Amino acid sequence: MAKEALKKWMELPANIRSKILSTVWCGQCRTAVTICDYSTDFDGGVVVLRGFCGACGHKVARVLEGCGESSKRAPQCGLEYYIFDVWLYWDEKCTDEKKILRKIQIAGTKSLYNFAKVITQAFGFYFDHCFGFYNNFQRYGDSSMAYELFVDVDEEPLSSTRKGVKKVKINQVFKSAGQKMLFLFDYGDEWRFVVELKEINQAEKCDLKPKILESIGKAPEQYPPCEDEVEND
Ligand SMILES: [Zn+2]
Repeated sequence: MAKEALKKWMELPANIRSKILSTVWCGQCRTAVTICDYSTDFDGGVVVLRGFCGACGHKVARVLEGCGESSKRAPQCGLEYYIFDVWLYWDEKCTDEKKILRKIQIAGTKSLYNFAKVITQAFGFYFDHCFGFYNNFQRYGDSSMAYELFVDVDEEPLSSTRKGVKKVKINQVFKSAGQKMLFLFDYGDEWRFVVELKEINQAEKCDLKPKILESIGKAPEQYPPCEDEVEND
């Protein structure tokens, strides 16, 4: 404790320290004096200097407001992490046992475009096709909420209710845990990912790098080799 207090004290600029040392109130002299033979410690979380009056030798002390014990929690940076489960069904019946799932943590301020990139990377796919996020899983064309790369690349959006993905942030689309969207990647092969927001957490550190928190199941190959090549697999 005393060591930590001393460290805090020594972190102050030298001119500030010498000013503090020469202006400690002495109850005996009834004036500001220089403190001698002082030691440092914490008292109620702040550094306190305790020593003796340089003039009369009376005990004196000085509390250093704003020179606190090193804070245990990191300062809040206001960043929120969105935790998603993203999965593919690897059979026609969409049974949960055959889910291929990636749990992804990403800052809510990232764009949908960024999110799409992270998803494709998490599944080992090339980020080489158009995509969109839709709230209608059966008929994505009928979605009331749709965010498509087409809109950003200036191709004609299929309807005016559609928005782009580059300027739209995750936290503008996903509002609460349990909300699901279809992430359709590659309009030719139609990879259908289910994206579900699981939780929103306050970030402890301002780390904007997305993270894969969990991987369940082996991702399918985006471009599988010709069938006769894998016959004896
Ligand atoms: Zn004194």
